[in-house]
Amino acid sequence: MSADTNLDIAALDKAHALHPWTHFESFVRDGPLVIERGSGCSLWDSDGREYLDAVGGLWCTNIGLGRREMAETIAAQAEKLAFSNTFVDMTNGPSALLSAKLAELAPGDLNHVHLTTGGSTAVDSAYRMVAYYQRCAGRPDKTHVIARDSSYHGSSFATISIGKRSGDKMPEFEYLSEGIHHVSAPDCYRAIGERSEAEFCDDLVAEFEATINEIGPDKVGGFFAEPIQASGGVVVPPEGYLKRMAEVCQRHDILFIADEVVTGFGRLGHWFASWDEFGVQPDIICCAKGLSSGYQPIGAMIFSDQIWDAMQGDRWYASGFTYAGHPVACAAALKNIEIIEREGLLVHATKVGQYFEDRLGQLENLPMVGDVRGRKLMLCVENVADKAIKALLPDDLDVGKRIADAAEARGLMVRPMGHLNVMSPPLVITQPQVDFVAETLELAIKEVTDQLVRDGIRIG
Ligand code: PLP
Repeated sequence: MSADTNLDIAALDKAHALHPWTHFESFVRDGPLVIERGSGCSLWDSDGREYLDAVGGLWCTNIGLGRREMAETIAAQAEKLAFSNTFVDMTNGPSALLSAKLAELAPGDLNHVHLTTGGSTAVDSAYRMVAYYQRCAGRPDKTHVIARDSSYHGSSFATISIGKRSGDKMPEFEYLSEGIHHVSAPDCYRAIGERSEAEFCDDLVAEFEATINEIGPDKVGGFFAEPIQASGGVVVPPEGYLKRMAEVCQRHDILFIADEVVTGFGRLGHWFASWDEFGVQPDIICCAKGLSSGYQPIGAMIFSDQIWDAMQGDRWYASGFTYAGHPVACAAALKNIEIIEREGLLVHATKVGQYFEDRLGQLENLPMVGDVRGRKLMLCVENVADKAIKALLPDDLDVGKRIADAAEARGLMVRPMGHLNVMSPPLVITQPQVDFVAETLELAIKEVTDQLVRDGIRIG
């Protein structure tokens, strides 16, 4: 029963809600976990149990939950102007101010902003922008795009097709394949083999160039890349990789689209990771999540002067969403950015993120932990059966889920993804909370390792 309503929320949910990315059999068996309240890095369920949410909502609660200032801003804007559309030539204060602020924060000449309702709609807009821009620039055949294996760019028809995580493409669904191509993920743990990081990087760049030549340089219009591949397993590219991929793009008039839905707004200690972390100037940045820290659904496609200039003239940009530039969502995003600035959360994320890396890195001493990777407040633990040969445990053991469950029983939420456990806590996380995450996760991994060994599984 929910303390809020006296209604059986779990039963109502179970009877009527189709959750994103749900597994029917397990959901029918286990039902939902009802979350009732949040403050800072903590969540409370409907039984009053507290969890430290190291998942950060879903890579998004950057400033932490339960901030009165955010609630007041949202309430005040809802009262003043809850909605007016931004189609054609209408605007509202928060929408215009947020566009200007994002132009200020984004690197280089990314001075133009198309507001959306979340990450998928931002990346979907960028996908549509590729053909639109290229045609405006007199290159009508450059409509093909290239993305990478192990990428996730959203859940709309186009964006799920651009992404390519193993297990995402379900036989029951349809996907777009025409004009969408994939190259290897820059996975330094699994794909590198015997090669040095530099050799691996050379091979990835060569593969990209070969793919462009195969499709035809006059046909490829855009390249999509998360600076660190998030849901694909926190894949950190080899040194220099993104810069060299961007140089190839530039040589062939291919738009470099940085999907910063996860890496933006402080997760790596910067507003955006492309330039500040990786030295890459993208043509388009897509962002969402930390843009409002999850207080309101909102996303943005931020694009260059070059694209803007090419589009000008007697033509329509016939694309956009009813809730683009939503005044309440924009007001929340502006307040969120103000809080990140005022509280110095980028500096804090850099410092506490380094501590998080160091503390979780120690888990590599455990027999089942093959790799701890990521940067700052975006980390992942890869669990394996045999570290020497990086052999995986059988899928049906569901090791990531078992560890997440063992952690949850101890009051810690980490995200299971196959054999991985992924973490992206709020930027406001403190060193003692990082210690709690590291210690609790260690206990959970040890507990699951012991269970597996007892069941006759060889680990180590
Ligand atoms: N791009 C990346 C890198 C993401 O991780 C996500 C969501 O996790 C998306 C796009 C889609 O964002 P949304 O779920 O807000 O549509």
